[in-house]
Amino acid sequence: MIEPGATIGIIGGGQLGRMLSMAAAQLGFKCHIFDPHDHGPAAQVSASFTRAAFDDRAALELFGNAVDIVTYEFENLPCEPLAILGDKLRPSARSLAIAQDRAREKQFIEGCDARVAGWRAVSSLDEVEAAVAALGTPVVLKTRRYGYDGKGQAWIRDPADAGAAWDAIGREPAVAEAGVDFTAEFSVIVARWADGRHSCWDSAENQHGDGILRRSTVPCSDAVAVQVEEAREATLRIAEALDHIGVLTVEFFASETGPVVNEIAPRVHNSGHWTIEGAVTSQFEQHIRAICDLPPGSTALAGNGATMDNLIGRDVDRWAELVAEPDLHVHIYGKGEARPGRKMGHVTRISPRA
Ligand code: AMP
Repeated sequence: MIEPGATIGIIGGGQLGRMLSMAAAQLGFKCHIFDPHDHGPAAQVSASFTRAAFDDRAALELFGNAVDIVTYEFENLPCEPLAILGDKLRPSARSLAIAQDRAREKQFIEGCDARVAGWRAVSSLDEVEAAVAALGTPVVLKTRRYGYDGKGQAWIRDPADAGAAWDAIGREPAVAEAGVDFTAEFSVIVARWADGRHSCWDSAENQHGDGILRRSTVPCSDAVAVQVEEAREATLRIAEALDHIGVLTVEFFASETGPVVNEIAPRVHNSGHWTIEGAVTSQFEQHIRAICDLPPGSTALAGNGATMDNLIGRDVDRWAELVAEPDLHVHIYGKGEARPGRKMGHVTRISPRA
């Protein structure tokens, strides 16, 4: 067990690191952030900060020696240098390696007997065209690596669009994925301990715009609720197969044939931000508890439900109006410029108990 007073290293210095660090501080831990950029959201609220590139082995080694345990909040890390951290790293680099390559991820999910959309790995225009012929339209091309929030993606609605889509994603190795005709999107977030104990929160129903999460709502609609049990079972099989320690998120489409996995994230997730005020124990606190091997907290709802809205780009300019709403929980991440599509903060409304 890693006890309060210890130092937790967090690789990645964005808003997820910030919220992890705040939850860790509440439990009496100190956090040390490792990130290539100064003045990030996490370093602002943490005890220590190392500025270094993610593949700087010497800096990673010093960092590993300075902390009691290490976790990560960012997926696009080179895995190989992380080996220097040994078993201080939780979750392991394997969870990361699988989640950061869409082709490996899909194979792995299929191996766990969970449903994914029809897909093909592609690395040339010929292969894209063959995939479109096999899968039918619409198809979405997604780069195997470095995609997030809809970036590195292009839709093919007509076979004639294949070349333009291939160009649009930079002719990178990709997966071609059949478009799923879904009624809703939702996520299952699980925290898993080294000994296999685990706990899930109620599933949030997620609304996206331009590939970016806009709103998460708990409880979910009936159309989603009927698919949650099957989705949870799939999530647990995935977490077990990864031997995952900490929080794991699986995003699903609710389709006519049942839940279809969209992607997995080996970390706390935007669709779980509502748990900060909406659940007895937040995803951030539970992640810290799981990696430190403290007992699990309750994941029950704190009220009757919650709605979380992201503040994207200039939405954050409305902060004065938002903080004037007495029942609204306002989170502002301390980022610099409010660029379009950038997640600058979020707000959560809790539905009170009747
Ligand atoms: P992703 O970055 O893979 O999570 O994709 C961002 C969003 O694009 C998803 O949340 C969906 O709204 C949409 N999307 C991605 N893949 C598909 C698909 N195969 N079928 C339908 N919509 C998709």
